Amino acid sequence: MLPTLKQYFGYDKLRPAQEPVISNVLAGKDTLAIMPTGGGKSMCYQLPSLILPGLTVVISPLIALMHDQVQSLTKNGITAAYINSSQSTEEQDQVWNRLKDIKQKGHTRDEGDLKMIYTSPERLLANDKYFLNYLTGLPISLVAIDEAHCVSSWGHDFRPEYSQLSILKELFPSTPIIALTATADQLTRKDILEKLRLTNPKTFISSFDRPNIHYRVETKADPYEQLIDFIRSWPDQAGIVYCLSRKSTEEVAAKLSKLGIKAKPYHANLDKSAKEKNFSDFMDDKIQVICATIAFGMGIDKPNVRFVAHWNLPKNIESYYQETGRAGRDGLPSEAMLIYNPSDAFTLRKFIDGDNNTGTNAQLFRAVQHDKLDRLLEFCQTGHCRRRILLQYFQEKIASDCNNCDCCDNPRLKIEGTVIAQKIMSAIYRTGQRFGISYIGDILLGIVNERTQKYGHTALPTFGIGKDQDKDTWLFYMNQLIDLGIIDIKYDGFIKTLGLNETSMNVLSGNKPVELIQYKPKEEKTRVKRAKVTNDLSESDTELFERLRGLRTVIARREKVPPFVVFGDQTLQFIARLRPKNMFEFANISGVGRVKLQKYGREFLEVI
Ligand code: ADP
Ligand code: ZN
Repeated sequence: MLPTLKQYFGYDKLRPAQEPVISNVLAGKDTLAIMPTGGGKSMCYQLPSLILPGLTVVISPLIALMHDQVQSLTKNGITAAYINSSQSTEEQDQVWNRLKDIKQKGHTRDEGDLKMIYTSPERLLANDKYFLNYLTGLPISLVAIDEAHCVSSWGHDFRPEYSQLSILKELFPSTPIIALTATADQLTRKDILEKLRLTNPKTFISSFDRPNIHYRVETKADPYEQLIDFIRSWPDQAGIVYCLSRKSTEEVAAKLSKLGIKAKPYHANLDKSAKEKNFSDFMDDKIQVICATIAFGMGIDKPNVRFVAHWNLPKNIESYYQETGRAGRDGLPSEAMLIYNPSDAFTLRKFIDGDNNTGTNAQLFRAVQHDKLDRLLEFCQTGHCRRRILLQYFQEKIASDCNNCDCCDNPRLKIEGTVIAQKIMSAIYRTGQRFGISYIGDILLGIVNERTQKYGHTALPTFGIGKDQDKDTWLFYMNQLIDLGIIDIKYDGFIKTLGLNETSMNVLSGNKPVELIQYKPKEEKTRVKRAKVTNDLSESDTELFERLRGLRTVIARREKVPPFVVFGDQTLQFIARLRPKNMFEFANISGVGRVKLQKYGREFLEVI
């Protein structure tokens, strides 16, 4: 694996999560790989494709991404192509000819023969599955299904064509399939395995942590000042600003432009040419900031996005995580900032209720959306390590606070909270783990009302044990316990109930102490100290880095590709730091593969 990795991609090692996935694929087994955005999913089928003898078919829902991938692969000397509806007939014919070529040769291959063919499910199944049937006559070694969560109607991007992909297993029964997604939830996972009819599949779930991203939430005060401050802390570096409406993408872009920051909007209502231009200007580093609607920012797959700002609240934690995940795919320090405006929640709730679907399922769906929004609001208001909460949401625990988020930068007053937690848990336990947060608050406060009387809870020993604090305080602590994974929140149809888990038991038995953030009634909403996120280049290395960037831009314009296709930022940083003196040393830089060495080595050495 490693020599092939170095030869084509220039990297020295696989990431820890990639290795087992790739080994499983190479062993000819079906695989489901779940990795966060930026985790390096593509490598999990691209490297096997280069090692396996035949052709790899890659199914991907987004045309823009296919184009980018093929472009990058080609620059690395890998023979890849795509077929989709955006191409002219001639372009499609060219690809067909290359496929015909493979068909004629049967199992023999020459150096320039096609190795990877990308297509969309629509194209694959079009014209009575003509293309698909054609592929059955070719030596196919691997089928990769990207964004595999699209098969699931539970997910947010359900694509009906994806659910027809079960046919792949029928037509290629002995070819391994790898499905990839960044969506972690259980139902989606189960759906993927079932709908694609994978045989004895092995599922690999990698950590969702993105350690290079710094998280920050600022309560909305003077939002433009907040945003501009943030952007100015990343001079000349690319970033995305996510907005809720098309109108606000335009307003924000206009305002930024007025202040001298090169910014453009990006949303579905722009005319085709403006859309394409703004997009490619961003990819090509011609503008610094793209202000995108959430629906439209999906295709932005640029590895050197240094920051993501949320001008409005995202819908839920999954969306937030996916959107912020577009920062720092290349692994370099990056930052995510959210401007928290509580009134956005009203707008989002109107969206949720606006869908007029009746029926129990639709109602349930809406209830779940509201609950997910609640969790996001708690995330915004927390004083605990943000990464801990994000990862907790994906059922992942971290051993210590991250030291790379605003809450870790500005620690709040913590108190010994074990007794508080025990009181809450005891109230949950004694009422049978069937009630929600507000009711548990009533029990703790000993409130005699219709409900507490009806259920006979006024006689419980825990009834009224929390009279020393008011209800807001108890709600504040209960939410913290949920965030910390010490108690569970369960969704049982429309009812949200609190329950105990293994961690709760450890706390109840006194084996695990709990630290809580102290409740303060009217918290001052002042702006907090910002820790500057930087790369660790010295001054002279930075100067060289900037020059290397300049050369990269020149080459990129000459070859009509985005700069990151020439070399990634990380590779330029390695070059700036290590200063290779000759082609041999240059070849050793991570990110320099064989073809790029020959093509660009001398020019870069000259600048060094
Ligand atoms: P995903 O599809 O999971 O969001 P990508 O496949 O786009 O992630 O990969 C993210 C970035 O990581 C890309 O720029 C890619 O070149 C880089 N990358 C992938 N694997 C490695 C590796 N083994 N070493 C260094 N960089 C890698
Ligand atoms: Zn933290």
